Amino acid sequence: MDVPVIQGFRGRVIGPSDKDYDEARSLYNGMIDKRPKAIARCTDAADVMAAVNHARDNGLLLAVRGGGHSGPGLGSCDGGLVIDLSQLRGVRVDPANRTVRVDPGCTSADLDHATHAFGLAVPLGIVGSTGVAGLTLGGGTGYLSRKYGLTIDNLIEVDMVLADGSFVTASKDRHDDLFWAVRGGGGNFGVVTSFLFQAHPAKMTFAGPIFWDAKDAMKVMGTYRDFIARAPEELGLFVGLKTVPPADPFPKEHWNKRACALIGAFNGPTATGQALMASLLEKLPAPLFNWMGELPWPAINSLFDPFFPKGLQWYWKGDFVTTLSDEAISIHIANAAKAPTPFCLMHLYPVDGAVRRVARDATPWSARDASWSMVIAAISPDRADATALRTWGRAYWSAVHPYNQKGAYVNFLDADEADNRVELSYGDNYRRLTAIKAKYDPGNLFRVNQNIKPGR
Ligand SMILES: Cc1cc2nc3c(=O)[nH]c(=O)nc-3n(C[C@H](O)[C@H](O)[C@H](O)COP(=O)(O)OP(=O)(O)OC[C@H]3O[C@@H](n4cnc5c(N)ncnc54)[C@H](O)[C@@H]3O)c2cc1C
Repeated sequence: MDVPVIQGFRGRVIGPSDKDYDEARSLYNGMIDKRPKAIARCTDAADVMAAVNHARDNGLLLAVRGGGHSGPGLGSCDGGLVIDLSQLRGVRVDPANRTVRVDPGCTSADLDHATHAFGLAVPLGIVGSTGVAGLTLGGGTGYLSRKYGLTIDNLIEVDMVLADGSFVTASKDRHDDLFWAVRGGGGNFGVVTSFLFQAHPAKMTFAGPIFWDAKDAMKVMGTYRDFIARAPEELGLFVGLKTVPPADPFPKEHWNKRACALIGAFNGPTATGQALMASLLEKLPAPLFNWMGELPWPAINSLFDPFFPKGLQWYWKGDFVTTLSDEAISIHIANAAKAPTPFCLMHLYPVDGAVRRVARDATPWSARDASWSMVIAAISPDRADATALRTWGRAYWSAVHPYNQKGAYVNFLDADEADNRVELSYGDNYRRLTAIKAKYDPGNLFRVNQNIKPGR
């Protein structure tokens, strides 16, 4: 099969007959196996414009790929054209203004590396290989969220290629409706070719994981719930139900034990972080191990990368959570105990503090009243586990969902959600999103995403 000729395209177009097609089409989630007609590896915004025009004029399904981390594989498509931004990895830090200009193929680790040299960081997620683009366009939660808000709350400006092939810059002063929409509305409005972020001081951090035996999970989760609500915002600390990985450096005597973990980073003086964590630990039983210590900021944001390489099978489901009752905690613990593989996990990421101080209608992310963003991730290296992963993930989610909000962080929605889950996730902001979609992408060219339908 010949690859299409894209007028004015300078990068490489990869098709099924190319030797590296399989590598080029592979995504982070090994459960997804999509076969695009062609993958257009862009070298600049001009290439993006050429590829958008080509897809639209030829009636091709169009997918846009940043870091390729989407759970449902929304960075690719079957039979269509993929705009692959993965080669665009530049970062320019302006230390005087504490701003950072970021190319759309950057991973979180790329950005952390560049800003660390200046003692700065942008609020990002907890895994280094995650794409900045998809994470930002969906919202972005991480260790700095309690202090500095979501990633979108730190977005100043974007360059974009729209469905008609035109190029615009959107900020609060230019195309303010579009700028509103991209701060949580995903890839629905066009292809972002450059991001400008506000960065914040972050150099060394008191950070790392603490694991308890699952028999202590009720006590740990309940105590954490009460503690984090009042903890200083410099502390980003999430709670998880997991299994101790059967691998180094974990102590062999604990391998495969069901566990409850607190994983966090304190962005402030180490002694203050230590004292704060000590005040929590004195209320809890002795952990299996406590690996909190002083780390450079990029290290905590990529600490788990070796355990989650590209190509594992992933099935995930999420919810926003307002309150965590003892009853809900019991249901979490009972379902986590049935996990089919030691890779499976449930995390509750705090989205309070600075996240709550932004008005519900200031960005599409309407769940400003939530306390946590929950993800249940069913993971395995073995393709044969795919059905078991889905079965466990769905059953766990169905059991806890009645205790949670109706919507979820859009980046934690999977492909098999109920028809109205995207709408529920945006709440009252959905209607405005559909109007802006109708203005900028009336033909729904950008539909390989958590899709917002153009309004009438
Ligand atoms: C291991 C792991 C850890 C994670 N941890 C966190 C976390 O801590 N915090 C958090 O908030 N999220 C986290 N996520 C979720 C993550 O935010 C989403 O998976 C996100 O979609 C990843 O972005 P990407 O660019 O890698 O994805 P891709 O698969 O490339 O793209 C995802 C979506 O964004 C669109 N898109 C990508 N780039 C562009 C662009 N330039 N312009 C327009 N649309 C674009 C795509 O079309 C697609 O719809 C994690 C995911 C994984 C797999």
